[in-house]
Amino acid sequence: MITFYPGPSKVYDEVGRYLQEAFESGVISANHRSTAFMQMLEDAIRNLKTKLNVPDDYEVYFVSSATECWEIIAENLISDASLHIYNGAFGEKWMEYTQKLTGSARSYFFETNEEPDLNTVTKPAANEIICLTHNETSNGTALTSEFLNTLRAQCENMIAVDATSSMAGVVLPWDSADVWYGSVQKCFGLPAGMGVMIVSPKAVERAIAVGNRSHYNSLLFIRDNFLKFQTPYTPNTLGIYLMGRVMKQVLPIETVAEQTHKRAQDWCKFLPENGYRLLVENEAVRSETVVAVKDSKERIVAIKKAALQVGIVLGNGYGKDKEVSFRIANFPAITDSEIRTLKDFLVSFSSK
Ligand SMILES: *Cc1c(COP(=O)(O)O)cnc(C)c1O
Repeated sequence: MITFYPGPSKVYDEVGRYLQEAFESGVISANHRSTAFMQMLEDAIRNLKTKLNVPDDYEVYFVSSATECWEIIAENLISDASLHIYNGAFGEKWMEYTQKLTGSARSYFFETNEEPDLNTVTKPAANEIICLTHNETSNGTALTSEFLNTLRAQCENMIAVDATSSMAGVVLPWDSADVWYGSVQKCFGLPAGMGVMIVSPKAVERAIAVGNRSHYNSLLFIRDNFLKFQTPYTPNTLGIYLMGRVMKQVLPIETVAEQTHKRAQDWCKFLPENGYRLLVENEAVRSETVVAVKDSKERIVAIKKAALQVGIVLGNGYGKDKEVSFRIANFPAITDSEIRTLKDFLVSFSSK
């Protein structure tokens, strides 16, 4: 079975070997306050920061999921309000989670084929945190680095970005936001079960000012532990081991991103040439890591079914276009030969 599901997604082929290595090394039986564990956590963070080119003064924490990051941000960084700028299901869910916790989440919704217009976004209040979804996995759109850089230059507000389905697949403009997070089962090519949170010194300062030490998700408590290369609770040791190992293996993000870019360009040429319609018409806002294809409800059902019969899993549609689209993950762990297999299938399906 080959999977193009955009999360959980195909893991790197080498993960099988690393699982065995993890077992043999004994570290997955080690106590999480032991030197062996701390060394491993330190290596994993260092490898990640090096390969993804994360600024030295940004801190990296491993948590449970991207969803958990919604709560961590709401409980530790939002002292007044938050402004959620989104166009799809994940951005909306983040807003809803936050609203339940803080009661002060504002929405700015924009259309699928548009970039948010900064002139019409009402000016955020001084302490308001701006929440963005870098890659909207539900509809295959993404924010450009130019947009993020412009927003950064225009306001002093803290900016938090959900980069769950783009982190480790494309180059992110780290300096243009204070909080970035994602989870491992997307572009990292790892088995599900961990989130990655990356925070700027300014976000740490805000967490200190908010001073939440009374929740499981206390950012300060998480941080105290990570500064010692420990974790507040007994962590997903195997997940951290695999993260360290995969981050050691992968090429620097610039190189990975070049491959992502080329493959995305290729999909966006191949699909229309073979009778498939891209969900996102505006090239400028298309995601490079999740390609969404639009069709009638009947044909979507038929394509997914025929694909399964030849051992290919396509991503279901998600959110508002659930029934009339399917998604193709363009994540780094997918091989050229798997892509060829999917293309052959799509060509034969559309010629029927
Ligand atoms: C997958 C995804 C999430 C949720 O990730 P979990 O690891 O399941 O918490 C959140 N946001 C986006 C944009 C996603 O793609």
